[in-house]
Amino acid sequence: MPYRIAVLPGDGIGPEVMEPTLQIAAVAASKAGVEIEFTSHVFGAGHYRDTGEALSQPVVEDCKAADAVLLGALGLPSVRTADGIEIQPTMMMGLRRALDVYAAVRPIKRYAGVKTPLSTDAKIDFVILRENLEGLFASFGGGSILNDEVATDTQVITRRGTDRISRFAFELSKKRNGRPLDGKRLVTCVDKANIFRSFAFFRKVFDEVAADYPDIATDHQYVDAASMLMLQRPEAYDVAVMENQFGDILSDLGAGFVGGLGMAPSGEIGDEFGLFQPSHGSAPDIAGRGLANPIAMILSAGMMFEWLGDVHQDKAAKKAGTAIESAVAEMLAGGGPMTKDIGGSASTGDVASAVLECIANE
Ligand code: ATP
Repeated sequence: MPYRIAVLPGDGIGPEVMEPTLQIAAVAASKAGVEIEFTSHVFGAGHYRDTGEALSQPVVEDCKAADAVLLGALGLPSVRTADGIEIQPTMMMGLRRALDVYAAVRPIKRYAGVKTPLSTDAKIDFVILRENLEGLFASFGGGSILNDEVATDTQVITRRGTDRISRFAFELSKKRNGRPLDGKRLVTCVDKANIFRSFAFFRKVFDEVAADYPDIATDHQYVDAASMLMLQRPEAYDVAVMENQFGDILSDLGAGFVGGLGMAPSGEIGDEFGLFQPSHGSAPDIAGRGLANPIAMILSAGMMFEWLGDVHQDKAAKKAGTAIESAVAEMLAGGGPMTKDIGGSASTGDVASAVLECIANE
């Protein structure tokens, strides 16, 4: 039986980075001996503007019926609901909630050949693990404004949510090679436990889970300190787990270390479903001009194969995932074409073709 992938190209640069990624995924799959088929859906802010439909139930149901979901990007700044709020979060949060994908895995990895703003040459290879459904984002769709004077959104941290994201962090560290500095497996809990009860609770539950993983070292950092320490010594991190909003912010910071959002893939994973998308949004400022860096999307497809391989204990799927990442690494290290965001002048298509060539030759 082929793996069936629900494909949501979405808005802005989403379709531009999705199209070549599907070609690359198909070639990688066929070379690794994996059968794969794609079901593409119209879904996004553009569709909402044209039809008034935000979260199409048939599409959500098909995402659940598929083996994995590949998403390009959602959102157009001009497309808003009657109260002036962008439609994007309604769709993104709705999809995340429907699929119960509680763990956003955001690898921060430096590839040889890509210039970064950091002066250090240290190897950078860590994961920001963002709790994807609770925290401050749990308030999405709620919140209150009182008399046009006071506005509130409530942070929600639950034992169940914290337990499962912490467990995910340790399981993820087990699969990795430790931090680049010295190979030590380390899970860093990033919080603000010195100020807020909710974060003190997050830390307490994290520590309880940590006790089940005595072979993996732990650390605690306040989010403000973490944003400085990560910049100073990125090689000292393996897996850093945190609340939703903190993960949203620190994963963009981390992306900045390794060349920007065009280099930052992600996998949003739950106990049943997996949704893979670049960390970036629809980048309307560059859409339609062939400027989008497709690497984050391509690497996200690689993560999808790795995850399928894990879930189905399928070595061939894992091989397809490794082949995609190796091809990207080889292309970049070999001085291959790069888009403007990482200092080159190549088009989306040029970059994708070079990756495709590396896979074909592997
Ligand atoms: P969202 O909140 O939906 O994630 P955002 O507001 O963070 O979106 P993005 O759409 O990710 O915004 O874009 C932020 C900046 O990064 C823009 O200037 C955009 O052009 C640039 N950017 C994002 N993705 C890419 C990419 N793949 N290639 C090149 N530049 C990109």
